[in-house]
This record gives sequence, structure tokens and C-alpha cells, in this order.
Amino acid sequence: MKYDDAAALFAKAKDKNAGKPIGNNTRLVQVGSDYAVRLHETNIVTLKPDGSIVLNSGGYRTMTTKSRINEHVPELHITQDMGLWYVNVRGQTVFFEDGMVIPATGPITGNDGYAMQKAKAQVDKMVSAFIKGYVNKMLKDGIEQPGDGDCWGCAMRDESHPENTEPMGYDHYLSHFEERYYVPTIFFQALDEKKYPNPGLIMHMMSTDARFMKKEATIILQAYFRKRKLGIAEQLARRLV
Ligand SMILES: [Zn+2]
Repeated sequence: MKYDDAAALFAKAKDKNAGKPIGNNTRLVQVGSDYAVRLHETNIVTLKPDGSIVLNSGGYRTMTTKSRINEHVPELHITQDMGLWYVNVRGQTVFFEDGMVIPATGPITGNDGYAMQKAKAQVDKMVSAFIKGYVNKMLKDGIEQPGDGDCWGCAMRDESHPENTEPMGYDHYLSHFEERYYVPTIFFQALDEKKYPNPGLIMHMMSTDARFMKKEATIILQAYFRKRKLGIAEQLARRLV
């Protein structure tokens, strides 16, 4: 659907405020001089008068969002690979980002899907090596207490937005991987995020049973980095582009 098609279709809407129904939970709405495909409450596709298109999943990277975009904007195609979304447009494949603008003509700049793919594979390897090194150090030296000299980024939390676990960004993790700097704070944050009913007991069992420590510390750190891998990979992808 192009801008003019949207304008023509919208003109047929009985209730202009509610928009024109174009699918399950999907409406074509007018937003200022733009037209948008709205799925539930999210404008997943915004068609601009200059022919450019803005894409936005609203954080819902679901099958429905993907198929609605593909259905209504056949000029581009969204695919998924290893949990990541890519946009194929005019022979170019780029990494999907919320709010990304597809210009009416010409290439999309500053975004390389292949770099992201490569970065994700590299980060997977880096994280595995880091966890292995981290646990080996714990087995050798015991559980090191966090101190004032620890990395700031690892320790920082945004109290008013607890869901934002990384107010300092993800770049510091890349340098920890490179320097094999096993920041003591990371383990304590990871333990905290695991929400054990009795973390003190876990700590006690770890300090008395090396096999348990090896197994459980690995699980705890894997859960911590699973949540952060994408953010770290995005940082690495920027360096690769
Ligand atoms: Zn750090």
C-alpha cells in the first residue's frame, strides 16, 4: 500500500476517528498528514506524504506484527532469523529497528543486517568464554565480593526504571570480555535477578560444594547474559559496520 492508496482507502472509512478496518484488530488511521496501519494500539506502518515509510513493532515482535507489515507493505519484506528481524527492501537486507525510516528511494544507511548477524554469533562465543573463565576463577579464588573498584556500568541500576537493567549501556561488557575482567558485581547482580527464594543458601552450597558451584554459577551467569546478548551484539555490530 502506498500513500495514495491509503488516502483513497481511508476516504471510504465510515467513522474517520475509528479508522478503516483492514484486518483483525487492524485499522487504517489518519495521523496528521500521515496514514498508519494500526495493529491494536501500535502504528506498525506509517506512510508519509513524501513516500517514506516508518516501521515500528511497539516492542511486539510477533508473527502477527510481521505478517501485517508484509501484507500491507509488499514493497518490503520482513524475515526472522535466530530471533532477529530483518527488512528486505530493494535488494538490501537491514536489521529491523523500531522507528526505522524506509526512504521512498535509495538505500537505507547506518544499518547493516549482516553486521548484526555476525556480531550476534561473535557475542555468543564471547559470552560462553567469559562465563567459563568467570566460573573457573570462582572455583580457584572463591566468590569475590564486589568492591568500589568494580566496573561502574555493571553496578549501576536505574531505581525508577528497574526494567532498564543497563542505564550505562552495553559497551563495557565488550571490554570485560576482551580484558577477561571478571567483575565481581556481575555474579551478585545475576544471583539477584535469578530470584532464588533463599539466595543465602545457594551461596552457602556454592562455597561448600565445588561441583554445585560450577553448575549453578554457570546457570546463573547464562541467564544474566541471555537477557543482554542482543544489546551487546548491537554495540559490537556498530563497531563492525
Ligand atoms: Zn561493566
